[in-house]
Amino acid sequence: MVITRIAPSPTGSLHIGTLRTALFSYAWAKKNKGKFLLRIEDTDQSRLVPGTEEEIEEMLKIYGLDYDEKSKQTERKDIYKKYAEELIQLGQAYYCFASKEEIQEAREIAERSGEQFRFRSPYRDFDLDKAKEKIESGEPFVIRLKVAEGEEFEFEDLLQGKMHFKSEEVDDTVLLKSDGLPTYHLAVVIDDHLMGITHVMRGVDWVPSIPKHVLIHRAFNWEMPKYLHLPLVLDPEGGKLSKRKGTVAAKDFLIQGYLPEAILNFLMLLGWSSPIKHEFGEKEREIFSLEEFIELFELKDLNKSSAVFNREKLLWFSHQYMMNFSIDELHKRYGEWHAKYSEEKELRLKIAEKGEKYLKEVLELVHDRIKLLSEIDELIKLFYFEPEKIKFSEFKQIKNLNVDQTSIILKSVVSELKEKSENLNDWPHEKWEKFMRNLAEKNELGAGKVFMILRLAITSSPATPPLYEIMTILGKSEILTRLSKYVDNI
Ligand code: GLU
Repeated sequence: MVITRIAPSPTGSLHIGTLRTALFSYAWAKKNKGKFLLRIEDTDQSRLVPGTEEEIEEMLKIYGLDYDEKSKQTERKDIYKKYAEELIQLGQAYYCFASKEEIQEAREIAERSGEQFRFRSPYRDFDLDKAKEKIESGEPFVIRLKVAEGEEFEFEDLLQGKMHFKSEEVDDTVLLKSDGLPTYHLAVVIDDHLMGITHVMRGVDWVPSIPKHVLIHRAFNWEMPKYLHLPLVLDPEGGKLSKRKGTVAAKDFLIQGYLPEAILNFLMLLGWSSPIKHEFGEKEREIFSLEEFIELFELKDLNKSSAVFNREKLLWFSHQYMMNFSIDELHKRYGEWHAKYSEEKELRLKIAEKGEKYLKEVLELVHDRIKLLSEIDELIKLFYFEPEKIKFSEFKQIKNLNVDQTSIILKSVVSELKEKSENLNDWPHEKWEKFMRNLAEKNELGAGKVFMILRLAITSSPATPPLYEIMTILGKSEILTRLSKYVDNI
């Protein structure tokens, strides 16, 4: 059975690059009817950030990458200790009592002679009984791997290919720290082995750790899982994708109003080439649901070269998914986003007051403009709040008009509206158009200008969804309220 895992350390928010690793690992497990595991690697206690373990779980859930089992390394503490001691019995590891100063001195000697520093402890061949006495007397110790001398190794990564290295290049790596907890290197090897992980996917930045992991596997005489070290995700401006240049946390993208399925779709294409190619030079297909991705995903289609995190492309994906939503879906997603992340408390009250049916009508009108859920607050405000009075002369679209012209237009509209029935829908759109065009003609103005005056008076913005639709949703009395402040005193 294929078993994959994601092994984040709860030292900060889940990084979008780790989410990509989770996506590929999840897809490979699901494709093969296998299992996808979550393992919290929390053995470096000094780096833990409270709340991030919960955040990792929440993110995997929201993004739809459900894990089959969860484990946590600090809860498996005794296991690592037992295995580290087993390596001592096998002569593959040793208790080491070297102090920081001793190690530092060894480093300086190596550096002075221009050699690469690889720590070989004076305790490598220390008598085991004497070591135990020291431990019993309370001396602090670590357990180190006893790296054999003069050996050469080969390792094959399914994505990065073959690698060669020599044992001289590897430290006598610490396996168990003085606090009794394992190092990442020991814990990762033991856990991947005991959990039956068949495929390890992780970032290419873990390649330098491979020699240690190979040697620890050899020390136990364990077979290694298959490895795929995934290419880096680069910032468009160069360098690794980093916090300093924009959002990188899976959660922050949600706060910003991106849709999780759009983000997943975008991540699929960061390192994977879809096998679906269109003929005749058409563009490649880019939209894939998670189910389709699982169906199509093959390890051979993973790329070795780095992927660039193009934020505009991500926005494009978000827009595509948003446009495909039904109004009911959009309404649901916006409601969830707004409740969780929006700071527009007053708008929330207004929305509740006007009711959900009204909100759906409003959403229908702004639907095709939405790229992010977070944009909706701003786009719909005009349907909930009467805008501040504006100065027409400040808008370049109509700045040549004189006050009288503006006033005449608005007065005519007001008197016309007063005669109409309460429901603006009763007056067909065409009839309304005709009235506006006549008004333009009578006042020797372009129809566009007349519409702009009205648009500005009602919404205070020169760019809005179609005016007539806005008016039908707002209703007659609201429009009259908004216009009257201009009619009496422009
Ligand atoms: N705990 C490591 C991390 O935080 C996991 C590396 C691995 O997958 O082996 O990324």
